[in-house]
Amino acid sequence: MDLDKLNSYYFETGPIRPPSEAYSLLIRATRNCPWNRCTFCHTYKGQKFELRPTGDVIRDIETARAIVEGIKEFGLKNGFGDHPREVAAYIHSLVTNNDSVRQVSLWQWAGGRSAFLQDANSIVMRHADLLKVVSALKDNFPELDRITSYGRSKTAAKKSVQEFIELRQAGLSRIHIGMESGSDAVLKFVDKGMIAADHVKGGLNIKEAGIELSEYYMPGLGGRQWSKEHAEQSADVLNRVNPDFVRLRTLMMGETLAIWAGVESGEFDMLAEDEIVREIGEFISRLNFTGELKSDHILNLLPELEGKFPEAKQACMDTVERYLEMPLKERLNYRLGRRAGVYEKLNDIYDAAKYEKIDAAMRRVGADTTGKVDELIDGMKKRFI
Ligand code: SF4
Repeated sequence: MDLDKLNSYYFETGPIRPPSEAYSLLIRATRNCPWNRCTFCHTYKGQKFELRPTGDVIRDIETARAIVEGIKEFGLKNGFGDHPREVAAYIHSLVTNNDSVRQVSLWQWAGGRSAFLQDANSIVMRHADLLKVVSALKDNFPELDRITSYGRSKTAAKKSVQEFIELRQAGLSRIHIGMESGSDAVLKFVDKGMIAADHVKGGLNIKEAGIELSEYYMPGLGGRQWSKEHAEQSADVLNRVNPDFVRLRTLMMGETLAIWAGVESGEFDMLAEDEIVREIGEFISRLNFTGELKSDHILNLLPELEGKFPEAKQACMDTVERYLEMPLKERLNYRLGRRAGVYEKLNDIYDAAKYEKIDAAMRRVGADTTGKVDELIDGMKKRFI
């Protein structure tokens, strides 16, 4: 197949996927979010939720298959032989104006073993339609060993365990849920549209069916007024559900978010970054589950808060304590360096060259107080969302 033919293929994709699905095939099963009211979330604002016709979604899956075949054929005709990753990387570097081909080639380069169903809550689809989509993915790509989707707890709580079992048998293997908080007060304040009991019921339905469950906790979402109960009650919900993964995804504030009105009115008292770290420490100290804690979002200050629980719990708590006990100058240096992309993890601060680089930058711009560093970091963080 020549490049012109390959370039003629197109299928629809949505705006986001979880960080852990960066190298998955993205198939848009639904458009936008059926709830769309959470005050800390901007992703689908102004967009209407739509169920896509199942036939269209299946056609997209078949188009992705055709692109895979096209890449293979191109490789055979152009001397790559039986080296699928190399030809996929070559196509990815060559094709700059076709997102579908770029996406599939990146996915093939990464091994082509996982797929993610977009957008925000595709488990809300009619059961028979979702089954058809998951089955079509498996039929077209039998090599897939992971098919995942976002889902809302409220939707999961209304679905039967039997329905989830059928989805697992068809190939759906993991559901990502934005729990955000286990505190009813926080959930109400941010208009999450559910209570902690929905998180428990939804999560247990998924687990009981044997589907892997990944739950997101959002440090900072309770502000100063609910920080303690946000940490405690979120850990409590997760302890009851015992998901396979708990993922940290720190609150990102901004003037364009609906939650900002609460900051202006004084109803929401934002935590400083170090207070968020303290809240995470409280959360981890209460977290008693047997899955993996992940800190795989760019907005998190401490990416090393990861590991299989309960074994990794003490090390995570030690990291939090180590950060909080660092002198203010070092904490500011680390925060700035992490946001500037100089540090990947806390230990990098012991790299003298990196530390000096950030220190020199701080002296240059007069960033010697928490307030000044916060200002600089706010600007940097906005680039991440
Ligand atoms: S349910 Fe998820 S995608 Fe929808 S508004 Fe809330 S956070 Fe955003």
